[in-house]
Amino acid sequence: MSIQIQNITKRFNGFQALSNVDITVPSGELVALLGPSGSGKTTLLRIIAGLDFADQGSILFNGEEATHRSAKERQVGFVFQHYALFRHMNVFDNVAFGLQVKPRRARPSKAEIRDKVHELLQLVQLEQLARRYPAQLSGGQRQRVALARALAVEPQVLLLDEPFGALDAKVRQELRRWLRKLHDEIHVTSVFVTHDQEEALEVADRIVVMNEGRVEQTGTPEEVYDKPANPFVFNFLGNVNLFHGRVHEGAARIADIGIDLPRQGEADGTAVVAYVRPYDIEINRTRQGADEIEASVLHIQGAGSVARFKLERLDTREIIEAELTRERYRELGLRTGEKVFVKPRNVRVFTADYQI
Ligand code: ATP
Repeated sequence: MSIQIQNITKRFNGFQALSNVDITVPSGELVALLGPSGSGKTTLLRIIAGLDFADQGSILFNGEEATHRSAKERQVGFVFQHYALFRHMNVFDNVAFGLQVKPRRARPSKAEIRDKVHELLQLVQLEQLARRYPAQLSGGQRQRVALARALAVEPQVLLLDEPFGALDAKVRQELRRWLRKLHDEIHVTSVFVTHDQEEALEVADRIVVMNEGRVEQTGTPEEVYDKPANPFVFNFLGNVNLFHGRVHEGAARIADIGIDLPRQGEADGTAVVAYVRPYDIEINRTRQGADEIEASVLHIQGAGSVARFKLERLDTREIIEAELTRERYRELGLRTGEKVFVKPRNVRVFTADYQI
């Protein structure tokens, strides 16, 4: 089941929660709506679900108009941040619930329900715990029950709102790997809301980056991480160094370094900002060429899979963050206070007034 979200706009008492949102979710994909708090993710998810309705725009399911269909007619399954399991029912009955409340004509037989629930509990790896009550489960286990319950009625679309938000970091990490694996097995079209960049990058087939009710960029995890469309996406997805400069004779000038501009015709003197990821900062002890910035080593964190450096530019006193492989760190043998030459790689330049 594909979902097309066309030109959706939503206001709450004059407050613009969503502006002209266009997204296509291909059938069978797992798509993350990623953005900071208040960016409109939950509002959009509720509109996809039919729990809320847009002021303007359309929602199409498999190319068919579904804008005014109720949540029930859309056949969506839900998993929310706070596991709303029935406390007085055990795991088996929680998962069976959606099947047992079906109208008599559509309801499977007792044996069919039993088989289906066992199959789902196997899928979420909780078969041993079928007789337990929610209070006897860990947070991660409860969330897996919630997912099995949502899947029991064979939804056309699965919607997840910060499904792992209430869990601690380690459990979250386990569950997101598990969700990815599960999705590879069942391929139900899924949209999940998260404000956690790592979660979106690790789990999703496609990421929709949202900000202030607008879509900033849509793409695969690699696309949005390696080719951010604008400064917002750059900042939101990972650490980044900013170098301020100006346009000079058709190129961006950052300190003494000249960098190609993404578009022609910028006037001399226009302010520009260059964005560089910490792992794209090369450090040398001696000058290798003219396109380097002088800095001193302020701090080194050598433990871990990469060595993290805090450097201070000698000209502007601005801080540069760099990440070096352990091999390069050992090879350089640097100590705090030493002078170094910094060469930024994979630089992306945006003008200060850059808009998408
Ligand atoms: P979070 O990550 O914090 O859940 P979000 O990206 O999901 O944020 P939404 O919950 O969609 O954001 O809210 C978007 C904006 O719309 C917020 O500023 C919120 O205050 C506002 N909003 C949401 N629901 C309502 C409502 N029923 N009435 C008024 N304003 C609302």
